[in-house]
Amino acid sequence: MQTQSSLVRCGNCGAESRLPFLLHAEEQEPPDLDTRPGEQLRSSVGLWMARCPFCGYCAADISTIHEQAGAVVDSAAYQQQLDDARFPAKANEFICHALVLEHVLQYADAGWTMLHAAWVCDDHQRADAASLCRKGALNAWTVGKKHGQTFHDTYASEFLIVSDLHRRMGEFEHALIACNEGQDTEEVPELLDHCFRLQRSLIARKDVGRGSLRQLSIYRGAGSPPGDLLS
Ligand SMILES: [Zn+2]
Repeated sequence: MQTQSSLVRCGNCGAESRLPFLLHAEEQEPPDLDTRPGEQLRSSVGLWMARCPFCGYCAADISTIHEQAGAVVDSAAYQQQLDDARFPAKANEFICHALVLEHVLQYADAGWTMLHAAWVCDDHQRADAASLCRKGALNAWTVGKKHGQTFHDTYASEFLIVSDLHRRMGEFEHALIACNEGQDTEEVPELLDHCFRLQRSLIARKDVGRGSLRQLSIYRGAGSPPGDLLS
């Protein structure tokens, strides 16, 4: 993993700060069922989001800001979220960015940002916090759907991801329903079908852990990572 620190001027308050950036990280393993990349990219999640130390504006690149986002950053709800003790500090940065995205009606991206917050919580072994974030992701995607926003390539792959979020929260019945929906709606490509089978076996075992595509028989022993498998 290659990182670098750079001087950045905040797009919200104009203050300059030196922040770390991810330059490059290889994805040397297959992703998880919820699309979380394998190592080394996996471990770089904390570098996917930055926070201005002065005003608290959080974004992947804080040098730019949506013209309607400034009011959100200044709001009491946002400023409270920055230091919400229920979540690890880095997860709060993702959640705050999701608040900005929701305010500008980018619900699909807000959902992904909440899922990234969940991954940070996973890494901190904060299961309750991770579940709150996954719930937030599902809520954002549901609202997005009402606005005509898709959050993944196909109906089936969206349901696979939804199923995985439910499973990781221990909601096995909802997870199974999402599998059924995803597999019933359309002709599912072979690889995705394998993913659904893996998902079903994890649900059957009431396994709330990471579901890596490494577990698929078609990848066992395979050397190279299927980087664009689900993305
Ligand atoms: Zn700032």
